[in-house]
Amino acid sequence: MHKRVIIVGSGPAGYTAAIYLARAGLSPCLITGANIGGQLIQTSSIENWPGAYQYPSGFELMDSLEKHVKQFDVEIINDTITNSDFKTKPFMLIGENQTYTADAVVIATGSSAKYLGLESESRFIGNGISACATCDGFFYRKKDVVVIGGGNTALTDALYLSSICGRVHLVHRRDSFRAEKILSDKIFALAEEGKISLHLDSVPVEFMGEEKFEGLTIKNVKTEGIKFINADGAFVAIGHKPNTDFVDPVLEMHNGYIVTNRNPHFRTSSSVAGVFAAGDVADEIYQQAITSAGTGCMAAIDAERYLQQAE
Ligand code: NAP
Repeated sequence: MHKRVIIVGSGPAGYTAAIYLARAGLSPCLITGANIGGQLIQTSSIENWPGAYQYPSGFELMDSLEKHVKQFDVEIINDTITNSDFKTKPFMLIGENQTYTADAVVIATGSSAKYLGLESESRFIGNGISACATCDGFFYRKKDVVVIGGGNTALTDALYLSSICGRVHLVHRRDSFRAEKILSDKIFALAEEGKISLHLDSVPVEFMGEEKFEGLTIKNVKTEGIKFINADGAFVAIGHKPNTDFVDPVLEMHNGYIVTNRNPHFRTSSSVAGVFAAGDVADEIYQQAITSAGTGCMAAIDAERYLQQAE
């Protein structure tokens, strides 16, 4: 199948790009991937999508975005791209079901939060365990929470949660943080004040609870001592993995994310002209639904201008 422009990914970035490209008369094709709707469908209630003041669930929001896209001339295909070739034109995308070629591509495949992989963890994901404090922190107002990790995300999350939650426990596997010093200093200051409890050199062993999450046991890796932390929610902040396994390595990447923002006239262009990237797959920092939608819009405008100039 050949299309002028193909969007890969069905999160806020992909759907927004589809709306803009369709309204530009380009009849785009959107390939959904296996996880239709992206990461957001795991979130129980979205309170920071401007205008959605009745706080839809992530599933409802993505369902309405899909319905919105379907108002336009967009071909939505349920397929997962496993490989790509951006070295020659037209660009090639190899899916599980068929092969596609396109004159321009928008990659909007997002990223996946890393989880610890404990069996007890999977029972509570989306129901006591979250990987997004910005999205879900509000549900734990005045309640006790645990944050796991020692990078910028974990410490930023712990600082944010300490402003709205009860006690915040920070569990990190080493005795020093990977995060920036300014964040570490703030955490240590709050620990001094007793607002954050630090559990260093410690790893989660088991997430506990019957129907409801009740806390977790952790092990000190130096002393082997086990202790239980009573908490209402846990935030796993051990990093994200951008979904770029299928991407031709000819594209410049940084930490696995597609590098954009090098061309002032095409901000969402990757290192290969005609291949654009939007949303979390190209964003190491913000990783919000609304920023993804914003860059999805930018990628569509860039792709449209690229195709016009290539004519
Ligand atoms: P990260 O920097 O990769 O940190 C991940 C943390 O999780 C590390 O402390 C790591 O421990 C720990 N970890 C990893 N796997 C683990 C496991 N299996 N069990 C227990 N702990 C584990 O990821 P991030 O904090 O999400 O940051 C990602 C990127 O976004 C970074 O470039 C960061 O600078 C950026 N970011 C910036 C800001 C900001 O500027 N305010 C905020 C958020 C994120 P070790 O340290 O022992 O490896």
